[in-house]
Amino acid sequence: MKPTVDQDLCIGDGICEDLSPEVFELRDDGLAYVINEEPDESLWPTIKEAVSECPTDAIVLESYGSDADVAA
Ligand code: SF4
Repeated sequence: MKPTVDQDLCIGDGICEDLSPEVFELRDDGLAYVINEEPDESLWPTIKEAVSECPTDAIVLESYGSDADVAA
C-alpha cells in the first residue's frame, strides 16, 4: 500500500511520526510528509495505526498490486 498525507488536513501533532517514524516525518513547516512511499509489509501495522489515530483523517492509503495485499 502507498500512504499519502493530505497536508491541507494535517494539524502537525506528530502522532503518525511517533507511531511510524520509518514512514512519516514532521518537517519544518509543521506538517507531516511521507518519506517512504513503498513501505515494507512489516511496517503496515504501524501505518494502519497511524491512519486510525490521526485526528483529522489526513492519512490516506492507496492500494497497489493485488487487493489481497491490502486485506492482509
Ligand atoms: S497524525 Fe495526522 S494530523 Fe497528526 S501529524 Fe500525522 S498526518 Fe498530521
